Amino acid sequence: MGKTQKKNSKGRLDRYYYLAKEKGYRARSSFKIIQINEKYGHFLEKSKVVIDLCAAPGSWCQVASQLCPVNSLIIGVDIVPIKPLPNCITFQSDITTEDCRSKLRGHMKTWKADTVLHDGAPNVGLGWVQDAFTQSQLTLQALKLAVENLTVGGTFVTKIFRSRDYNNLMWVFQQLFEKVEATKPPASRNVSAEIFVVCKGFKAPKKLDPRLLDPKEVFEELSTTNNVNNEAKIFNPEKKTRQRQGYEEGDYLLYHVMDLIEFIKNEDPINTLGNLNKLSEPSKDDHEWKILRKLKSCTPELLECIKDLKVLGRKEFKLILKFRKNSREILGLDEKDETGEQIEVEPLTEEQQIDKELQELTDKQKQKSKREKKRSNELKQKEIVRNQMNMLTDMNIGLEAAQLGSESLFNLKTAEKTGQIDRLAKGKKRMIFNDEELAKDNDIHVDEEDIEQESGDEADALEAQLDDMYNHYQERKAERDAKFLAKRLRGDADEEAWDGIRSDEEEDDEGEETKDYEMDEDSDDSDSDNDEHIRLITERKSKDGLSRGAKMFFQSDSIFNEFDEESLLNEMVDNTKTADKVSNGNGNGNGNGNGTSAFEADSSDAESGSDSDFEIVPAEREINYESASDDEEGNLSHKYSRAKSEKEKVDIATVEAMTLAHKVALGQMNKYDLIDEGINRYSFRDKEGLPDWFLDDEKKHSKLIKPITKEAALAIKEKQRQLNARPIKKVLEAQGRKKMRALRRLEKLKKKSDLINEDSGKSERDKAEEIQKLMKKLTKKQKQKPKVTLVVAAGSNRGLSGRPKGVKGKYKMVDGVMKNEQRALKRIAKKHKK
Ligand code: SAM
Repeated sequence: MGKTQKKNSKGRLDRYYYLAKEKGYRARSSFKIIQINEKYGHFLEKSKVVIDLCAAPGSWCQVASQLCPVNSLIIGVDIVPIKPLPNCITFQSDITTEDCRSKLRGHMKTWKADTVLHDGAPNVGLGWVQDAFTQSQLTLQALKLAVENLTVGGTFVTKIFRSRDYNNLMWVFQQLFEKVEATKPPASRNVSAEIFVVCKGFKAPKKLDPRLLDPKEVFEELSTTNNVNNEAKIFNPEKKTRQRQGYEEGDYLLYHVMDLIEFIKNEDPINTLGNLNKLSEPSKDDHEWKILRKLKSCTPELLECIKDLKVLGRKEFKLILKFRKNSREILGLDEKDETGEQIEVEPLTEEQQIDKELQELTDKQKQKSKREKKRSNELKQKEIVRNQMNMLTDMNIGLEAAQLGSESLFNLKTAEKTGQIDRLAKGKKRMIFNDEELAKDNDIHVDEEDIEQESGDEADALEAQLDDMYNHYQERKAERDAKFLAKRLRGDADEEAWDGIRSDEEEDDEGEETKDYEMDEDSDDSDSDNDEHIRLITERKSKDGLSRGAKMFFQSDSIFNEFDEESLLNEMVDNTKTADKVSNGNGNGNGNGNGTSAFEADSSDAESGSDSDFEIVPAEREINYESASDDEEGNLSHKYSRAKSEKEKVDIATVEAMTLAHKVALGQMNKYDLIDEGINRYSFRDKEGLPDWFLDDEKKHSKLIKPITKEAALAIKEKQRQLNARPIKKVLEAQGRKKMRALRRLEKLKKKSDLINEDSGKSERDKAEEIQKLMKKLTKKQKQKPKVTLVVAAGSNRGLSGRPKGVKGKYKMVDGVMKNEQRALKRIAKKHKK
């Protein structure tokens, strides 16, 4: 058997061995002191003077010279020579001799040591008992030197073996140091009986009892106590402890039996049970046993258990103790205690009762407010996180309100309590809240007569119709949106150039000083158009199934008195192809002449049946309004058209405002100009004696049409495009979550790799490998799923079981429709890229 094998067989060539080699330490035991130092507050880093007793070959000294502050004094001593070490003073001496003591004093001069280390192990090959004894003596010698050289508050680290001297040594340490703790660093082999004791905060007593450090005194006088923890035996019987010491003083029996009645009468049941092996059953003639065996708790199981106490578990011991208690009650052994324990409870007075209830209520209230506070804090916290992640949008408004509990506007608890929630669920909102309350709360006067007139059924029918109409509207909207999306996907390049706005409304004032628009020759009768339009919608509504009841509902003054018929209908079909009409007056003629605009009719765009109000004007036909107004103000030719798509629908008022804003910003207008603009021929109209319908109509159409510019329209469009370009809230949230998860993973990885790095017990290679493994794990998680090939189950593949020919990797059998869909998606994406 080779030398290496021999070493290996003892498990000596472990990772610390290789690690020490890699790091250049003289012995693997260097890691013991490194680990102890790390565990106990890095005392070496604070030590300027260190004495290492039994230092050969000197690895502890090496560690000390690395960790201690620069220029620290490190002295190492051993019975065998130590090879010189940089930054360390070493000498050869037996630490139990006076020679060592004086040499040490010579090196120390007036200094005091901050730390004394002792890793001594006797170099004798005696039996275990002899070795242990010498070890304890060596430790005590080391302690002696430490006491002589340590400074107040200094640290002493010593090796100690588990032996019967252990407790005595610990007791001595405790007399001299503030904190004494035994530890076994991971680098110390489990098979070794060595442990290390770290003594911190040297008390430096002025007068020291010499007996404290006298081996004879320490190891003889203190070796008396041998407390056996019998409680642990009973309450934690599963944990077996070995009795290394063998027989106890005066007790040479290994098997202990006690009579059950005797045990019942015993005052220390726990300790007794711990020492016993068996409880013997009393003789049948015993009159006390005759009574006790009739007890309910005296079961056959119990009688079986008491036969071998050493195999019992916690549950069985409980059984025995319960039986003992019952028996003692029957035998009248515990009577006194019980009567003494009885406490008379005085009834509370009325005042006390109220106080108690009040207290309870206040406590409850406090708890509730605490809970609410916690909840609101959590909400705030969430909001902060969302803010930080840019996840907060206007859509979040109301989400928090819904979580505010009782204060929430949408709180349904009250309805729930009154049992009206079911009715509310059926849609009979009106039934839930009493009208008076509603009126009081919202400052709305409820016309009770009107409400009474409408029967519940009618209201239900109305609501159902309204729902239908709304669904219809939603469907159409969705349809339109889908069309728009498709159009966008087709990538209409011409949409990019939004060149202006055309209006089909009439500008009939030729004498106007700022006549900027050309009238649309075909749309000369906007009023009739409008009327026709509304009629059509109304008709459609009737066709859509607006019943008499619904009509009544819409005509009801109490509900719709604030809306005129047109606005209501407009609102109902808002955004549909036909109803969107931005009324800016219909043009019907040609304007020309001095100081006014030249108007150009665009008959093709002015069809009455046109779906939209505006259209994109081709770039080449566009006039630069600004330059035109500068250069040839009298010959301006502005165009109005209807937008080709919903997307191009821009609120003319906004464009007007933007135009004005541009002008103000460029200094072409000032605030007085703006005020002047506000005063025009429509400002002071004589309205007396005119019918309402006429006035309403005038209100809509008889107003000055303000000039708009291409730049303003483009600016508005750009704004809308930016708005559209913003990802929707859900996408943002998902992105935020993804980012957060990635960050968390990274953070975790960082922490783990930091821990690995800090582990002094690992070589650099091991650390790198572990970190690489971690990284791999992380990237593995992020790896995308393997691509799945879709195979159409047609032709030769129809009804095929198993892998189709020529298909590698994951595959999925699909029908042709799905495959077509995939292809279509690819086609669209490709087109979109172009
Ligand atoms: N801490 C040391 C290191 O890391 O390099 C290893 C110490 S080794 C485990 C124990 C040492 O105690 C041995 O080198 C031995 O020579 C020393 N020793 C044993 N009895 C001694 C004594 N009476 N005086 C001085 N040194 C002693």
